Amino acid sequence: MPLATAAPSKTTCYQCELDCTFDVHYDSNNQVKKLIGPDCPRSQIQLEMQNHPERLLYPLQKVKTASGTRYQRISWDKALSITADALNTVKQKSGAESVAFFSGYTKEARSYLQRFTHLFGSPNYMTESGCCFTSAQVSEELTYGYHFKHASLMAAPETRCRLIWSTNPVHSVVPFDKHPIIEPKEGLKMIVVDPRRTETAERADLYLPIRPGTDGALALGIHHLLFENNWVDHTFLERWCHGVEAFKQYIKAFTPQRVADICQVPAEDIYTAAKWYGTSGPAQLVMSACSTTHHTNGFQNHRAMILLAAATGNVDIPGGNRFFFRNASPKSIDLYKETIAQLPPRIGHDKFPIWLKYVQEAQPMLLKRAIEGKESTQIRAMFALGINPIMWPNSNHLADALKKLDFFACVDFFHNPATQFADIVFPAATSLEREALITSTRCHYRGTVQYRRAITAPEGEARSDAQILLDLGCRLDMPEKFWHGDLQASIQEQAETLHPELWQDLQHKSEGIDLFGSVVMDETLNGQTEKVYEKKGFSTFSGKVEFDSDELRNAGYDGLPIYHEPAESPVSTPDIAKKYPLVLTSGGRSIAYVHSQQRKFKRLRDLDPSPRIQMHPKDAESRRIKNGQTVTISSPRGAIEMVAEVTDTMLSGAVHAYHGWGNANINELTDDQHLDPISGFPAFKSSLCQIILAESSI
Ligand code: SF4
Repeated sequence: MPLATAAPSKTTCYQCELDCTFDVHYDSNNQVKKLIGPDCPRSQIQLEMQNHPERLLYPLQKVKTASGTRYQRISWDKALSITADALNTVKQKSGAESVAFFSGYTKEARSYLQRFTHLFGSPNYMTESGCCFTSAQVSEELTYGYHFKHASLMAAPETRCRLIWSTNPVHSVVPFDKHPIIEPKEGLKMIVVDPRRTETAERADLYLPIRPGTDGALALGIHHLLFENNWVDHTFLERWCHGVEAFKQYIKAFTPQRVADICQVPAEDIYTAAKWYGTSGPAQLVMSACSTTHHTNGFQNHRAMILLAAATGNVDIPGGNRFFFRNASPKSIDLYKETIAQLPPRIGHDKFPIWLKYVQEAQPMLLKRAIEGKESTQIRAMFALGINPIMWPNSNHLADALKKLDFFACVDFFHNPATQFADIVFPAATSLEREALITSTRCHYRGTVQYRRAITAPEGEARSDAQILLDLGCRLDMPEKFWHGDLQASIQEQAETLHPELWQDLQHKSEGIDLFGSVVMDETLNGQTEKVYEKKGFSTFSGKVEFDSDELRNAGYDGLPIYHEPAESPVSTPDIAKKYPLVLTSGGRSIAYVHSQQRKFKRLRDLDPSPRIQMHPKDAESRRIKNGQTVTISSPRGAIEMVAEVTDTMLSGAVHAYHGWGNANINELTDDQHLDPISGFPAFKSSLCQIILAESSI
């Protein structure tokens, strides 16, 4: 269906959260014919997704049949009424807090869902960010008072040494193998730390293949050498840092040889890395949003790493690590600050108080336990915008828990392993079919505000996530709080805090506005373009960079970034390692997929057809496994089958599994019991497993 008004010439892709801009080409009937944007395989399915035969197009209700259950089409009116009545029933019986609201993808409607949660009276708003970027974010805000601009999108021409830690833009960030962060440059030293010799590592001047989960020890070992050799910035340390003396005492034990033993990295390479990072500045740390924090000690590991910038004075200088500022954000509509004091505590408040202090969410890794009545609040009903249990550690447990809910409604494009447990399934509009005001300063590190109009009418009866929440809010007798169902009015309200000229521009310039241009500089720095802390200080507990954190200590944690072995490893659990001797790391990105999405599209499956586990030839040979054979991977949690990719790019003794495959879900094997004590994050990237040839391959 063509749109009634003049059609926009641009849109943004939402196959991942980078929101890349695309030119829209229409045919003579004003139908979208072609989208032209970055050369990214994931983006090529945007139009195909519109009318994919399996797409959900109408609201569905689960009904009982003689042989089990099936879904039947119902009207929007009925679906909204059933959902509103069911949520109200649970609220009256058990309290509003016993209803959880969850958002996976999309991220665009999160502020609407958060608003809905709080107006409903529940504190239990959760998102997939509860195991994604928020551990790094909190670690950085607690340590520096700012969110560190370290992710793989940033490349500064001034940088002379780049320390890239477990991230591979070649598979995750456009323009992939042409990404500026991995471009060799005259005079630039590139160090890569990763248990996999990725395409990024192949381009490094120095590659440190690290045992998964030991990043904290390596960072402390580099600190040891920086201080020992006087490769530190004394002026910055003395004026702007807190707890340096205690930290120096602690790192004395992290000698190159001890760190080499822990991390399985040659001691001389640790020395070279420290020397280059400490003496060839400006130096920049480059990390992903979460690969360093998916460990049982990920939060403190990440703190040890980011403190390298403070030790060497590479803080908020051109070519070093800069900070995010959010002064040009649209008006918040989440009502968190207005309501949270009146609401009961969130799930996780007693276990992860620091994480909850910084993140306006409940910790979703406790969802299973909360449904089972093992947390402070028992969750009895849930409303979810995109949820898939295969993204949870020990995923079968969450799937089992979802069956126990009194009521479960979810919104999605397609059925997935979660929708089979839902009482009501709502059909979601795609990014091409929905308008949105998109702010990107938090998630994808580019710093843009974009206003995207729909370029095509929704297929079937699909609605945007935000519109569904407005409609449900009206159904729950709160029309005035939900703009009487008028999505455009909600966007206009969010735009109130944008500079009027900026908002005018946004409405006419659909490629968005780059806020790391002059707008941000003028608004946030008052003309000062580096070392903003000289004017603003560091908004931490001590007012300085926290090498030793009293805030952590007061909450019962270590104040220093103490290194602990992963909870499950050959060192910490040798008994388990006898049966499961290989270190399992998972979640590296495939260029074809984002998490569990996009598997329905043949052109992407042709690119990456099967669930793969990467293992070193030595580990394969001793198990008589050949490249391409099907193998059984087992852990204390279960067993699955994948295809072996035998490759010497993998560190011997460790294996890496790609995630998100419904038929070979690696998270059936990951651990949901041992969570990081500060963030509540699971160890997606360090546990134990065994691999044998599958029976079908013998
Ligand atoms: S990187 Fe690819 S999938 Fe992600 S938004 Fe850009 S074009 Fe789309």
